[in-house]
Amino acid sequence: HTFPGDESGNVRPRQTPGVLYSKAIPTPVADPKQLAWSDDLARELGIQKPENPEEVHILAGNLVTPSMYPYAACYAGHQFGQWAGQLGDGRAITLGEWEATNGKTWELQLKGAGQTPYSRRADGRAVLRSSLREYLMSEAMHYLRVPTTRALSLVSTGDQVLRDMFYNGNAAYEPGAIVMRVAPSFLRFGNFEILAAREELDNLRKLTDWTINRFYPHIQGENKLIEWFSEVLERTVHMVVEWLRVGFVHGVMNTDNMSILGLTIDYGPYSFLDEYDPTFTPNTTDLPGRRYAFGKQTYVAYWNLGCLASALAPLVGDTKQLIAELEKYEELYWHTYYVMMGNKLGLDKLRAEDLDLINQLIEMLSAIKPDMTIFYQLLMQLPLTIESKEVAVEHFKESYYKQLKPEEADTLYQVVQSYVARINTNTCSREASLQRMQENNPRFVLRNYLLHQAIQALENGDDALFLKLQAAMKEPYSAKFDEFFAKKPSWASQKAGCSMLSCSS
Ligand code: AMP
Ligand code: MG
Ligand code: MG
Repeated sequence: HTFPGDESGNVRPRQTPGVLYSKAIPTPVADPKQLAWSDDLARELGIQKPENPEEVHILAGNLVTPSMYPYAACYAGHQFGQWAGQLGDGRAITLGEWEATNGKTWELQLKGAGQTPYSRRADGRAVLRSSLREYLMSEAMHYLRVPTTRALSLVSTGDQVLRDMFYNGNAAYEPGAIVMRVAPSFLRFGNFEILAAREELDNLRKLTDWTINRFYPHIQGENKLIEWFSEVLERTVHMVVEWLRVGFVHGVMNTDNMSILGLTIDYGPYSFLDEYDPTFTPNTTDLPGRRYAFGKQTYVAYWNLGCLASALAPLVGDTKQLIAELEKYEELYWHTYYVMMGNKLGLDKLRAEDLDLINQLIEMLSAIKPDMTIFYQLLMQLPLTIESKEVAVEHFKESYYKQLKPEEADTLYQVVQSYVARINTNTCSREASLQRMQENNPRFVLRNYLLHQAIQALENGDDALFLKLQAAMKEPYSAKFDEFFAKKPSWASQKAGCSMLSCSS
């Protein structure tokens, strides 16, 4: 990937004009060991759990079977608001496409399987810490009903990988690992952007047609490009609103990390909210700009869709139509958002006057910053007659990270009163309302500090917490795993890796 004799000493990344992918063979690892396997997903795919070491070698990239055609995809992207040029799968290698028993097709991809033509100066590897995070979180999102890529397996490689630990700058060796991740497709906005940037319009048209035929086959006819863009936008809105519902912060919403299918993709420096803070970003690289903070995700998704629209513009005769579709984002977003919030609050249906209540609630949460997950769980247990401010404040006690100031207590009381008044006008039964809340408010979320603890234990050979989290993430709306129903402990706020992570993890 380097140019020997490059006088300036600059290492230039390899460019691959004219093509959308490059052949890439996984680099063997020393001693693969299977750490996790997703039974439900495997069943859906019709893949049996590996039973002998040879099969585990497939999950580690050591064995490429004759039916596989491993490749790395080429894409570009806007990173932190700037055009970054060609990027591509630097550490992900697609092994091929798998047809499940039900006829659905899935792309099988190894993440951390070694260098590809797009690795630039990096090693193409992933560490156990980040692989475990991707494995658990992508599966957890599935069980939360958030659109996402999936993970079939996690293996340790037996090799050591050099990484800068978080933001203290010290390099250290960490155990390597590989995730086999699975999605109908890993195509990103960036796959379209690269073709537009290179002015390869034939290729851009081919990719666009292929994507529509393959993944949006119901879209046909003359106006299909516009209709398709509109559906990508709808799916993206749905995805972001679902993130807000469960309190997920992606952390690095670059356009190369935006799925063309509206799936959550690329699990890096993500986090759930502990305290409700719309300005929170888990990504140390994102400070002090906070571009990818929880509350900015709506705007960034729109901005990213703007990049996609720009990439597609050369294919449409009249860009006014494309712009008009993009401009529908705001209305669609707010509608989807308020409906989601209505569900979280257990409203029978959304009424015009509910918007005020929802806005006041969010403002109050942003000021008080209670634990998001715990707050909504306590809201479900709220009695429908509140005698005093003290009772209201006491009710949510378990969710506070700090003592409320008098004016915060006033606001809380006022919002709670409006809420109770509104719930009392529901035309549905209390049971129906509570059921709606229960289905929309997770009780268990994979908090970063829990992941941190599970990783540390696993690195020391203890998989008890890792196994327990795997069980809990499958039932996020139940009270079965209430041993985890607790605020983030105060030590976790200070400790690296417990709330903030770096991009390169
Ligand atoms: P990300 O921030 O995870 O979306 O990564 C941005 C780009 O860097 C993508 O093109 C990745 O493939 C590439 N990349 C990240 N980590 C590595 C690595 N360890 N080796 C090679 N490429 C990497
Ligand atoms: Mg990425
Ligand atoms: Mg990544």
